[in-house]
Amino acid sequence: MTRRLHIDWTACDGRGTCTELLAEVLVEDDWGFPLARDGSPRPAVPAGLEAAARQAVDRCPLLALRLVQD
Ligand code: SF4
Repeated sequence: MTRRLHIDWTACDGRGTCTELLAEVLVEDDWGFPLARDGSPRPAVPAGLEAAARQAVDRCPLLALRLVQD
């Protein structure tokens, strides 16, 4: 199974905490909103980055991030 990051765009306000914590997976767009580096709407989390992804989920101030599995 692949772990993926789900971003709730209705909740995210683009402050960029997640892009700082998970820079290997996410990059900020021009307005500070997170975009997947791989262009996916639900970017895959590499095995070695699961702890960082969990930290990004836990620290999102608006609960806009979730980890999901394929
Ligand atoms: S930490 Fe949450 S609110 Fe902030 S940019 Fe990331 S998803 Fe959006």
